[in-house]
Amino acid sequence: MATYRDALCRKCRWEGEKLFLKGSRCNTDKCGIERRKYAPGQHGQGRRKLSDYGLQLREKQKVKQIYGVLERQFKRYFYMAEHMKGVAGSNLLQLLERRLDNVVFRMGFASNRRQARQLVTHGHFTVNGKGVSIPSYLVKPGDIIEPAASSKDASVIQENASQAEHRGLPSWLETDMQNLKGKILHMPAREEIGLPVHEQLIVELYSR
Ligand code: SF4
Repeated sequence: MATYRDALCRKCRWEGEKLFLKGSRCNTDKCGIERRKYAPGQHGQGRRKLSDYGLQLREKQKVKQIYGVLERQFKRYFYMAEHMKGVAGSNLLQLLERRLDNVVFRMGFASNRRQARQLVTHGHFTVNGKGVSIPSYLVKPGDIIEPAASSKDASVIQENASQAEHRGLPSWLETDMQNLKGKILHMPAREEIGLPVHEQLIVELYSR
């Protein structure tokens, strides 16, 4: 399975904003972008003036970094989004948001999407009682997400669950952390996703 291997904080510094890729560390003064508010590399402190194409490209890269999705899969999501009812940009974000690894993170079972992806891949989660080890699995309303019986005592899941209430829960999800269980209430609306993303730029990029 292909994954990005570049240092996480470099990605944020390159995009010029926090992408919250490292979990709790992102809210501390150890955050890489708080310490060095310029792009990485030798010319990182110079000003970059981006063309329209550059802006569109950066927006796409930003969303790919946030969800940890590679180009081919991202294109597939865009194709699906275009063929759904509604606005392509919002559909794209909705599809990404419905990924099982994202949902495990949003519910608070993992401290960041990367960790969530690893937990899912290692078979620590079930959907409606059945083991699912595919991070890109798309959840739907009514689905119940919970750690597998053998993983409920895993220290990483217990620790994350104990801190979940401090992180906030999107309104399209419901959790019962006493019983380590979560439910999808409805499809995420754009305003419930809450990412600082201009998805229209991505639509314009792929429409070129
Ligand atoms: Fe980005 Fe800061 Fe988190 Fe590093 S610590 S991943 S720079 S938000």
